[in-house]
Amino acid sequence: MKKPIKICKNQECGDEIVEYKSSKIEYCNDYCRNHAGYLRRLIENEEFNEMGNGLKENYRVLRLHSDAGIFSEELWKLERFGFNTCFLPEPKFFIINGKETQCYQIKEIIFRLDEKTNKIIIVKKKTN
Ligand SMILES: [Zn+2]
Repeated sequence: MKKPIKICKNQECGDEIVEYKSSKIEYCNDYCRNHAGYLRRLIENEEFNEMGNGLKENYRVLRLHSDAGIFSEELWKLERFGFNTCFLPEPKFFIINGKETQCYQIKEIIFRLDEKTNKIIIVKKKTN
């Protein structure tokens, strides 16, 4: 029986793996395995950094407003300051006025996006 054709999963190699024993083989050699891992981590890091920078920027804008005593502002106005809803942390649920409400938290600032008014509402700023 002919073995199926296996292609090395190292993106920068992509060679056919000519001789192999196990059908689970994914790389031609250790170099390719390690290099593929390296490339994967590189991409993950880039995404992580991009997210981190976006969150930092959002925090800066929220902080700017909360420090000025503004706890409710239209989204487009925040966006003018650099706020970007592409970079939001995982939502958390808080009880607000007896209702479970989806919020986001960046550092000490907890906020939500009111979809009806399209406003960002800063719910709580924790004080240490
Ligand atoms: Zn390879």
